[in-house]
Amino acid sequence: MTKKIKYFVGNWKMFGDFNSFKIIYKINKFCANSKKTLNKKKVVLCVPNTLLYYFKNKLKNKIISLGAQNCHHNSNYGAFTGSINASMLKKTGAEYIILGHSENRADGDTEKIIKKKIESSLKQNLSIIFCIGETLKQKNKGLTFSTLKKQIKGSIIKKFDLKKIIIAYEPVWSIGTNKILKMNELRKIISFINKEYKKIFKTKRSPTVLYGGSVNDKNISFFSSISEIDGFLVGGASQSSKKFIDIIKNYYK
Ligand code: PEP
Repeated sequence: MTKKIKYFVGNWKMFGDFNSFKIIYKINKFCANSKKTLNKKKVVLCVPNTLLYYFKNKLKNKIISLGAQNCHHNSNYGAFTGSINASMLKKTGAEYIILGHSENRADGDTEKIIKKKIESSLKQNLSIIFCIGETLKQKNKGLTFSTLKKQIKGSIIKKFDLKKIIIAYEPVWSIGTNKILKMNELRKIISFINKEYKKIFKTKRSPTVLYGGSVNDKNISFFSSISEIDGFLVGGASQSSKKFIDIIKNYYK
């Protein structure tokens, strides 16, 4: 296992109310007590906007970070009923933001819109968790690599603060389905993202690349043997403190 920091990011999606603070509390307490891995991991919980400010203020001795799950692309206030921009999220206590999630792409987020969202989130000094991934149709047509390349090129430009952008590879067909890739496939894809990123942005710096898609406390041992993966974006299993904590525990077993 490498010495690089590992990310454990939870994506609560549309889940949770004020009572869900107990989940955050338990995860934070676990992190505070896990002295051996304290400096080796970064734990981020991306929760609904309605809970960010409440959780931030209620959580004492905060070890974990909080994040949002999406934002409007416009940096300024405007006539966008029901929308929230990056600056508003920053003020609620968000430090991270998920952008380009396949569920939002399916709702109409284009590469161009995601690019604007990244730009306005970077302006607020938010760290970006930028999701990319192929659909089953694209996979079956052999379009995985070209899809990933297009998604990266379409939403990130060299002048962005690249260090603030974490890539989360999430095969769309794996989200919430309990289906995961074969080890050699996953290794190939992570290495492709790495190589392509360096080529596109003419940099020697490797990006931070997370994996997301049906990660749970049982299959995490499969992923822990792939040292090239810098961490995980966990959806469903992050809605339970026990499941999420067990993912971290089992990763370091
Ligand atoms: C996600 O929504 O980002 C995700 C990875 O979901 P799940 O872990 O439930 O597959």
